[in-house]
This record gives sequence, C-alpha cells and structure tokens, in this order.
Amino acid sequence: MADLILKPTREKSLLRRHPWVFSGAVDRVLGDPQPGETLNVLDSSRNFIAKAAYSPFSQIRARVWTFDENENVDADFFRRRVDSALSLRATLGFFTGAESGSPVTDAFRLIHAESDYLPGLIVDRYGDVLVMQLLTAGSEIWRDTIADILIEKTGLNSIYERSDADVRGLEGLPIRTGTLRGSMLDRLTIREHGIRFIVNIAGGHKTGFYLDQRSNRHRIAAMAAGRDVLNCFCYTGGFSLHAIAAGAKSVLSIDSSGDALALGQENAELNNLPAAALAWREDDVFLALRKFRDERRSFDMIILDPPKFAATVSQAEKAARGYKDINLLAFKLLRPGGILATFSCSGGIDAALFQKIVAGAALDANTEAVIVEHLAQDCDHPVSLHFPEGTYLKGLICIKRE
Ligand code: SAH
Repeated sequence: MADLILKPTREKSLLRRHPWVFSGAVDRVLGDPQPGETLNVLDSSRNFIAKAAYSPFSQIRARVWTFDENENVDADFFRRRVDSALSLRATLGFFTGAESGSPVTDAFRLIHAESDYLPGLIVDRYGDVLVMQLLTAGSEIWRDTIADILIEKTGLNSIYERSDADVRGLEGLPIRTGTLRGSMLDRLTIREHGIRFIVNIAGGHKTGFYLDQRSNRHRIAAMAAGRDVLNCFCYTGGFSLHAIAAGAKSVLSIDSSGDALALGQENAELNNLPAAALAWREDDVFLALRKFRDERRSFDMIILDPPKFAATVSQAEKAARGYKDINLLAFKLLRPGGILATFSCSGGIDAALFQKIVAGAALDANTEAVIVEHLAQDCDHPVSLHFPEGTYLKGLICIKRE
C-alpha cells in the first residue's frame, strides 16, 4: 500500500477523527497510488494515523475509511459499514429489509457519506428502488462491490445510479447515470406522512427528492391550517401539498423549474387535493417577491427553501446577501402574526450566521419577530460529531409580531 506522509503537526484534525486530508497538509506521497486507491496516512514521524482513499485531483487529497490499522478496506469492510448504516436506520424506525417502509415513509437515506463513515457514498431508498450516488474517487472504485452488498443486505433488486453531482468534476470523474442493478425504472411513487409523491429518479434533483426536509414539511404543515401560504422554491410541491392537506386556505407555489411544477401538479392530483386552492407559478423567486411587494400582496405563512447559495465559507458573503434579500422581502409580505419558515442548505453558512442574517433581514424590513423553532435535516441524514460539515440544513420558524 502507498503511504501519504503529512507535514509536521498536520495530523491534528485527523486525531480528532475528522476524515479529510487537505492537499496543504500533505508532505509527500510514496509509491504510485491510482485515484481511489487506499493508502496509509502517516504523520511526519511515520506513525500510522488512518487508511484513506486517494483523490489526486481534489483539494481534499484523501478521505479516511478507517482509523484502525488492523482493519482492511475490502468487501467485508463495506459489509460492516453498510450493516451499521442499516442498523442505525432500523433504530430510527425505518424498515431496512425488503419490507416497504415505516408508517411514516417508504423513502429515506440509507447511507449519508462521511456521517455513516463512508465518504463519498450516498444511498437513498425510494420504495423498492435504491438510488446510489458516488462522489469521490475512493467510492468510485468500489462501485460494484458496494452495489452487490446493497442488494445482499437490503433484499431489494434494483439500483439506479445518479453519479451526476458537480463535485465529481473536482475528483476528475465523469458523470454517470443509469440502471446499475435490476430493471429500468425512472419514475416511481413514494409516501411521506400520508401524502404520495411521484419521484423522477432519473431526472429529478439530487437523487430525486429532498428527503432531508421530510420532518420539516410535516412540522410546518401542522401550523398551516386556515392560512394563505406562499411556498417559495417549491420543487415538486413538498411543503405545498402537506400544507393544503393540513388545512391551509390556499397555497401559492413558486419555482423556476417548469418540470418540477408540472410534477407538483401531478402530485396534487394523485392525492386528490383541491386544485382550486393550489396555484403554481413558474418564476424567479427574487423577482416574484418584489412584484408581490409592489402589488401589496400579503400572506399568513411564507416558506423559503432556496437551493444552496454557498458550498464553501469563501462564497458565504455573496450567499448572505441572497438570504438577506429573500428573507427581508418575506418579512414585508407577511401579515402580522404570520409565520416565516426559512431555510439554508449552504454548507458555507452555519446556523449562527444564518440566524444573524435573518435577524438583519427583519430589522431592515422594520419587523419584529420571534423564533419559535430551530430546524435541521431529518434523522436519516445524521451528522458525525467529528464531521461538523455534515450539518448543512438549518431552518428557523419565526412568527411576526401582531
Ligand atoms: N422545498 C422543496 C425543495 C426545494 S429545492 C421540497 O421540499 O421538495 C430548491 C428549488 O429551488 C429547486 O426546485 C429549484 O428549481 C428552485 N430554484 C432555484 N433557483 C430558483 C430561483 N431563483 N427562483 C425560483 N426557484 C428556484
């Protein structure tokens, strides 16, 4: 096995079990490891620190598979890791075998990369289909092994691959999508807290659905009864359908993607929800909110769930302006006593900064509001204590002063 030698003192984060080796920490690499190959990470005195996957083209030069010198990275290693990820989901109440799911849902994240000790590997389950996403050179070379183990451990037959995330480019990996095991199926129906959703696993965002917002959709819907709701960045209607089913008076849903809106409308029909109370608008939220302000429109509940504005801390400033803008406009459009449910999924903006941005937006909108709840990604997206980057989704439920 090749060796990656760290510069002096650069082993500190690894000793705290953070799983990444940045290029700046690398003194040299001995041997001629291929992309994805497992190598030993050694401190500058050549003491063993970890076994990690080599990513020669990425700033994250290696990602740790194990801190145990006696643990080999082989098929059995992946079996153990998949077993523990499944066992965690079973603890959380999701069914992980060939059954069709928990009372809450039949769609959930089975493997959440670093936080399931499997850097670069995402696996989501939609009914009887697994969707796998490989993000790193290390996970890429184990593709077939992992696919076989997923079939073996879940008792399911079908895996669809969605290795089309932008970050693959940073690893020098091409985009790859398509059926990996079993039969071709590009659309299916899942259920979540009593609502059914069509998921386009071949062409939808991420692996097809924003599973991380499941508990938040349920929570926010519970406050929506009797309200006129504006759902910004609605995708296929997740928050909208839950809100209307929970008794919202009306829901106006906005997204820039016509395909997502069309699926949202199909989802509404599938659930026999009242079409007259649901309006769909293809628009840029930044512009739509301004138009509504100029038209003096108002709402009793506004949901803001924008896409990632900042992947890294260096993009945080520009992202902060984006969040401030939409939150400021939302506070203006809210009626007194109205509810703002606002989210950020930007890794580069932490919860404290996000709260500051929302506070600044309220101030500039000349609004007072209280936070009644802090929200995060649902429990099937765990966060390793040693990998704080795993906390990416944060949300606030705020109530505007009467
Ligand atoms: N709340 C959704 C997920 C939202 S994902 C759910 O629960 O499923 C973010 C969405 O924002 C995507 O659907 C994307 O098409 C949309 N989007 C991105 N930029 C936009 C913009 N400027 N205006 C409107 N929609 C936008």
